[in-house]
Formats: sequence, C-alpha cells, structure tokens
Amino acid sequence: MPRMQPEEKKLEVEECQQLLQLIVDGQATPEQTIAFQEHICSCKKCDEKFKLDSAIKEAIKKTCGCHQAPQELVSTIQGALQNLR
Ligand SMILES: [Zn+2]
Repeated sequence: MPRMQPEEKKLEVEECQQLLQLIVDGQATPEQTIAFQEHICSCKKCDEKFKLDSAIKEAIKKTCGCHQAPQELVSTIQGALQNLR
C-alpha cells in the first residue's frame, strides 16, 4: 500500500518555491536558508532557478540600485528561466 508520496512531494515543491522567493528577497530566516540549501542539494530544478533568480536580483541591483528595473535584461533572464521548465 503506497503512502501519500505524490501529495507530500507536491507540497514540498510549493514550499521550496516560496522559500526561494524569500531567500532571493533576503527575507528568509537562517533556518529557512539552511533548509533550502539542503533542499537544492537534491532538487536540481530549484538549484537552477535559485541561481537564475539570484542573477536577476543582482543584475537589477548593479544596473540601477533603485526601483527602475532594466526590463530588457529581466526579460532575457526570464526567458532563460522558462526554458528550464
Ligand atoms: Zn525543489
């Protein structure tokens, strides 16, 4: 009799996507950061997405440092993100 694995896995994926956003925004607690880093060791998808999201964040910060995001750059990186899915 199989356990409720598919449901657990789905929850986990949603959870790690939320964690990813918190971490990229710099709002995660140290515990959440550790949990996420353990997770991306075994979840390649989140690992890749985390790297790309961080790159977007960094690129925006470096380019202007204020609220005007370089839309063209964001589109380019988001295009790369889409290809990962
Ligand atoms: Zn994941």
